[in-house]
Amino acid sequence: MTLEIITIPCLADNYAFLLRDKATGKVALVDAPESYPIEAALKEKGWGLDMVLLTHHHYDHVDGLPELVAEYHPVVVGAKADACRLPSLDLALNEGDTFMLGETKGHVIDVSGHTIGHIAFNFPSAHAVFTADSLMALGCGRLFEGTPEMMWGSLSKLAALPPDTVVYSGHEYTASNAKFALSVEPENAALQSRAQNIASKRAQGVATIPSTLSEELATNPFLRAALPEFKSAVGMSDSSDVDVFAAIRKRKDNF
Ligand code: ZN
Ligand code: FE
Repeated sequence: MTLEIITIPCLADNYAFLLRDKATGKVALVDAPESYPIEAALKEKGWGLDMVLLTHHHYDHVDGLPELVAEYHPVVVGAKADACRLPSLDLALNEGDTFMLGETKGHVIDVSGHTIGHIAFNFPSAHAVFTADSLMALGCGRLFEGTPEMMWGSLSKLAALPPDTVVYSGHEYTASNAKFALSVEPENAALQSRAQNIASKRAQGVATIPSTLSEELATNPFLRAALPEFKSAVGMSDSSDVDVFAAIRKRKDNF
């Protein structure tokens, strides 16, 4: 691992993440839901803050930024495509662009769907991807702005990362996502055991984030829409992948 990663609960159910490049001590934050718990974590660790990586413009991912900028003067990084709605950016990036946190290279993946201009930050050398409200543990973000085609394309890019990639998503929604996933695929044994594991973690107040991509591929209904066994489980054997995804997303909206 090239990064030390800390998960910080914020607001009611958000997560922010601190990433420290082990080689240089440079520190980045992924999303700024509120400043207080992030400042507290930085002080406890004795870390500075060199960079803030913003995934998308929603208030529960950016509202803590002004205090952090005033105190630490980090480089603020976000999507060029959404620069008009994001806080003022020092580095505006596009799909496929790379940047350095110390000696660790980050890659930008456009994962539009929840919002248009939502990006994920992938660090291949750390086997870590920060997906916020695109791919979530056992779920995916609601389609506030994008189309099912757009989100399916975004999820397909994430699904193609190495299966040992660790997925850091933006919210603790996993227990309710598990209920929905079980309603879709009640016979999925991997899902049944994951749901039990999630229930016991939540009973102890333990975060269910991060997860691994291989777990998501085995259990997350929104990543499984292309599989023949999944299509048949939901009675859509003759439908296209994106139509199956769209139907499952709609079912979740009304669950
Ligand atoms: Zn959001
Ligand atoms: Fe959010």
